[in-house]
Amino acid sequence: MHIIHIASELAPLAKVGGLGDVVLGLCRELSWKGHNVDIIIPKYDCIETEQIKNLVVETKNLLSFYQGEWYSNTIWIGRVEDLRVYFIDPHHPRFFFNRGCFYGCDDDIERFLYFSRAAIEYIYKRRLNPDILHLHDWQTAAIAPLYVDMYQKIGMAKPRTLLTIHNMNYQGRCTTDDLTRIGLDGVLYLKPENMQDHVYPHLINLLKGGIVYSNFTTTVSPNYAKEVLTPEGGKGLESTLSRHQDRFQGVLNGIDYSYWNPEIDRFLPAHYSSREISANMTGDSTLDKKGLIKTLLREKLNLVEDFRPIVGCITRLIPQKGIDLIKYTMGHIAEKKGQFVLLGSSPIPSISAEFHRLKHQYGDDPHVSLTLHHQEELAHLIYAGCDIFIVPSLFEPCGLTQMIALKYGTVPIVRRTGGLADTIFDVDTSGKPFEETNGYTFDRPDAQGIDSALNRAIHCWFTNPVKWRKLMIHGMKMDLSWNHPSDIYIDIYKKLIDLF
Ligand code: ADP
Repeated sequence: MHIIHIASELAPLAKVGGLGDVVLGLCRELSWKGHNVDIIIPKYDCIETEQIKNLVVETKNLLSFYQGEWYSNTIWIGRVEDLRVYFIDPHHPRFFFNRGCFYGCDDDIERFLYFSRAAIEYIYKRRLNPDILHLHDWQTAAIAPLYVDMYQKIGMAKPRTLLTIHNMNYQGRCTTDDLTRIGLDGVLYLKPENMQDHVYPHLINLLKGGIVYSNFTTTVSPNYAKEVLTPEGGKGLESTLSRHQDRFQGVLNGIDYSYWNPEIDRFLPAHYSSREISANMTGDSTLDKKGLIKTLLREKLNLVEDFRPIVGCITRLIPQKGIDLIKYTMGHIAEKKGQFVLLGSSPIPSISAEFHRLKHQYGDDPHVSLTLHHQEELAHLIYAGCDIFIVPSLFEPCGLTQMIALKYGTVPIVRRTGGLADTIFDVDTSGKPFEETNGYTFDRPDAQGIDSALNRAIHCWFTNPVKWRKLMIHGMKMDLSWNHPSDIYIDIYKKLIDLF
């Protein structure tokens, strides 16, 4: 099959959160399984081009329509982690992707609508002729109506379209004029059965357009797929999803184990695995090397060396992620005889300012460390060097950090919501056999809730190291790779090709 993924992120070069990881991981697995995979992303000026191999200009003159005129675009082509990637570089005078950032501009809607039209225009003009167009989130959802109402009509008959929703909170609400700028008559789409927003009926909802006009929609975990059918989880799109439920499915994201793997991690100073005896048969457990990384992590972050567990958290600092509970854990960790390490950054200025104040306040606290920017290498060190990892999200479509933590033998504590409930099974309360448990969960998103899990975990770490080690190994041995989820996507693609 020839599959083209069109997205606004691609790890490691254009990554804000999990979306970038998912596009890379799924595409690599599809390609390993013999499929012909292409990726199209914007050519942001903040991409580090050293991470792209054989980057060349494919054409300097792809003409794409916007606001009544045709603008040229340079299309670059290169290889990222061995995948073929097309980069769209608009010559539009507003420099849509030369802003020093991926998102967060006032005209994000216009930037990604422009990108959506240019991407499908390129596929059409270059006759790439894919079997599947796989779209991601609102940023590329408009390609679905563009395809049905414009490109199919001019002879682009082959591709089936699939939209993956990574987070229902971001829907791409815009005016009818915004849609008109890319050549669709916006007013015609302002109807409940088309793209009219349920909450603000004078607005167009791009994500809704993706659901209505795609052949299939997925979201990133089975449990989140249930939650989004309720008013609380669907954020206005529950009725649209319910109406199209026969072509909607939750598929759990995977982790790219060629990147996130303590046995081969390129950023780690030592490697370890869940096997009790190392390959050279010395009788040493390589898992003990995790302790060495813990010491290095402490040195790097100026935490005192002490017999205590380190609790880690790596997250975008936004309300969804349970910010109050992160602050609570930070504030009470010393009395619980633990240490706390936060790696996070916030796109929201008030939250960013608050955490910078906290960083100042904790200053040279021997048990608490805050790093408030994006740092890939430190993330790997934290996953490997911590004992416990918290994900106290208010809602979480899938969540990758708890799955990565499992692979590194760092026991997760999560709030039981969305994909967190699909992946973490409480050692005391899940009712599952011990071998099938891998962490701690809590329900109430408050101090009492997180305490109910954190206190149990820390108590186990101090008093029952044998049980703790087994719990670590259960997590490390789980297969949360892309192998299984990619098979589910391949099945869906095949069904779509056969069905229509
Ligand atoms: P979301 O997509 O909502 O941000 P996910 O759990 O799906 O959440 O994915 C988060 C990804 O981003 C993980 O790979 C995590 O390691 C990474 N990440 C988040 N914040 C940082 C940071 N400050 N530095 C490095 N990596 C980060």
